[in-house]
Amino acid sequence: MTVPTFRFAPSPNGELHLGHACSALLNARMADEAGGRFLLRIEDIDTERCTPEYERGIFADLSWLGIAWEKPVRRQSEHFDDYGEALRRLIDEDIVYPAFMSRGEARAWIAEEATGETWPRDPDGAPLYPPRDRTLSERERRARMDASAPFTWRLDMAAAMEHVSGAIEWQETGAGPEGETGVVRARPEAWGDVVLARRDTPASYNLCVVVDDAIQGITDVVRGRDLFHATSVHRLLQELLGLPVPIYHHHDLVLGDDGRKLSKSRRDTALRSLREAGAMPDDIRRMVGL
Ligand code: GLU
Repeated sequence: MTVPTFRFAPSPNGELHLGHACSALLNARMADEAGGRFLLRIEDIDTERCTPEYERGIFADLSWLGIAWEKPVRRQSEHFDDYGEALRRLIDEDIVYPAFMSRGEARAWIAEEATGETWPRDPDGAPLYPPRDRTLSERERRARMDASAPFTWRLDMAAAMEHVSGAIEWQETGAGPEGETGVVRARPEAWGDVVLARRDTPASYNLCVVVDDAIQGITDVVRGRDLFHATSVHRLLQELLGLPVPIYHHHDLVLGDDGRKLSKSRRDTALRSLREAGAMPDDIRRMVGL
């Protein structure tokens, strides 16, 4: 029988705050109630912004909260080969292409070529990547790559969607921003041609998360509602790579006094600051409603 397996997957690019405490505590509790495993994964592919100090801070905060996790932890920066292999498979399938436009160039292209049209935006509000590079000839691509032009690997969303048969769905036991729950239909096309790898970071969050969840045998993904729409991309990548599909549970976000999502740059809700100001783990549980 499959052992229910949960994970908390923070990025060590800042201090954990109340929102992370909520996710970690909920994961640990659900794993416990299911008689399952609880894993910690360090999502440190951005080697510029992630530091060993922040990683040590994550361990300290979670231990203080009374959370225990299995060791060794999986550190993404130690597994670039796994992500590279997944990317290679998608390149071989011809559903990934090198995209050469910088953000500024893409903006200028949209302003010029799409005058009068409302250019579609992704669920995070960013304009979709223009279709120009998708149609470059193989020769042109080669020439630019050989000339060391900077590029990112993007998924050709239209081609990718043709590779999957039928609707893509997932089982949601939490809820999305509009209260979506139960069997949810994935809409990856809303994201356009997403980035799967960059030159400086050889893998993107979306690619690593599905590869790791599969390698670690994650059966239950419990995370904040801000990642609800990204799940559509994760489901598509799982279909394309033939990976198992976990159950998803997106939980309420802990909001600041101003009603906005907490950020790592805010000191007042950082667990370390709260601890130093005399808060106890039970106070944190109360503050996040657990
Ligand atoms: N590393 C992501 C974050 O810190 C979470 C990824 C996930 O749970 O899928 O927001």
